[in-house]
Amino acid sequence: MSYTEEVYERVVAQNPGEPEFHQAVKEVLDSLKVVIERNEEEYRRLSILERLVEPERIISFRVPWVDDKGNVQVNKGYRVQFNSAIGPYKGGLRFHPSVNQSILKFLGFEQIFKNSLTGLPIGGGKGGSNFDPKGKSDREVMAFCQSFMTELCKYIGADTDVPAGDIGVGGREIGYLFGQYKRIRGLHEGVLTGKGLSYGGSLIRTQATGYGVVYMLNEIMQAHGDSMDGKTFVVTGSGNVAIYAVEKAQQMGAKVVAMNDSNGYIYDPEGIKLDIVKDIKEVKRGRIKEYAERVESATYTEGRGIWTIKCDVYLPCATQNELDLEGAKILVANGCKYIVEGANMPTTLDATNYVMENGVLFMPGKAANAGGVATSALEMSQNSMRLSWSAEEVDAKLKTIMKDIFQKVDDAAKRYDLEENYVVGANIAGFEKVVDAMKAQGIC
Ligand code: NDP
Repeated sequence: MSYTEEVYERVVAQNPGEPEFHQAVKEVLDSLKVVIERNEEEYRRLSILERLVEPERIISFRVPWVDDKGNVQVNKGYRVQFNSAIGPYKGGLRFHPSVNQSILKFLGFEQIFKNSLTGLPIGGGKGGSNFDPKGKSDREVMAFCQSFMTELCKYIGADTDVPAGDIGVGGREIGYLFGQYKRIRGLHEGVLTGKGLSYGGSLIRTQATGYGVVYMLNEIMQAHGDSMDGKTFVVTGSGNVAIYAVEKAQQMGAKVVAMNDSNGYIYDPEGIKLDIVKDIKEVKRGRIKEYAERVESATYTEGRGIWTIKCDVYLPCATQNELDLEGAKILVANGCKYIVEGANMPTTLDATNYVMENGVLFMPGKAANAGGVATSALEMSQNSMRLSWSAEEVDAKLKTIMKDIFQKVDDAAKRYDLEENYVVGANIAGFEKVVDAMKAQGIC
């Protein structure tokens, strides 16, 4: 049995009931085989992989809060501090009923390589809760966030661990979390990113993940002599990442015809009117089906199946494992040429393999959605320097970072004679820097 297979079996045996974590480890280890075989003796001696797959620390805690009826509710809270070899832990907080240790470990593990790829000094972490902000009043969300931070604040700080947003955690939640941190710790410091502009946030952070996804797509297209102009796009989700991916794609000449949420999808052959989506999602916190009630050219379909809509480019920007083999086959049959992941691990392993074997240019989330965390790191820099860069400056840095990531991924794939295999390229490029830092720091 190879070293990577041994380590994978060990992960499965030692982390029972954590399928998402197993899946993320498998994807990474499988694609690192070529690098590991070249250095197997040294990596085995130093137990590099065994250390890499074991989080440095997992903090798990109780989050009690009082709802509007006066009843006490209890949720689970977590922070997975996965790897600090190249910098303080950095990664979002997710508030969603599906959150559990497996999901946060998969996200924290992926974050290590993503953060490494940005070229910025940030380690990997992730956290969150099974709290569902949907349908809660503002006061309930605040009560929950205050209780969550009352415990979490003991373990984070501007130079130790800097959380940000993720699913269910946007500007409102970051504001409540920051306020409570400041109150307890007495520090107005860059302990969270995604903050409001009036208290230390960075311009373009809100847009960064979605814009970065489209900048990455642009790099891939340019490398293949292609452009977005006139292409048909399907973008899944209708949250932060999806909305700003659509915005940038439309600015660059694309026609986006479909979006969804967890209830169903809208199809608008005339092109999605993003101001209406923003009003429904960002202002009214409503459901995507309201779009079809407001726009005559649009239809709404309840349930899954957004991948049945014919497109040249598919940007999955909702959640993990949203695109399975069945969907992948339909996308390929309909002529889809590019899949760039805005969400984390939205494509199942068999679907990923299928699209890559069938000529689709596929960029994994850890490279494609790294613009969010990269801009978070730019927010940290601005906080440390006590200054604010203009939107143009931040956007220019974001573009450069996405270009650099593409180059690193593309180069790594080519170095191992696996041209256009961006999955392998992203994992290798991210892995090499982390391993270098781990080796330099001795056994820790
Ligand atoms: P949001 O909470 O803003 O939006 C998530 C969107 O996905 C919502 O429209 C949600 O719909 C939809 N969704 C969730 N589950 C499903 C499902 N099963 N089927 C269809 N749609 C679904 O989150 P973000 O936009 O911030 O995050 C989206 C993804 O991007 C996640 O994987 C996240 O980890 C990743 N990401 C986010 C970054 C960021 O900066 N925000 C950075 C890097 C990655 P509904 O309202 O019905 O739940």
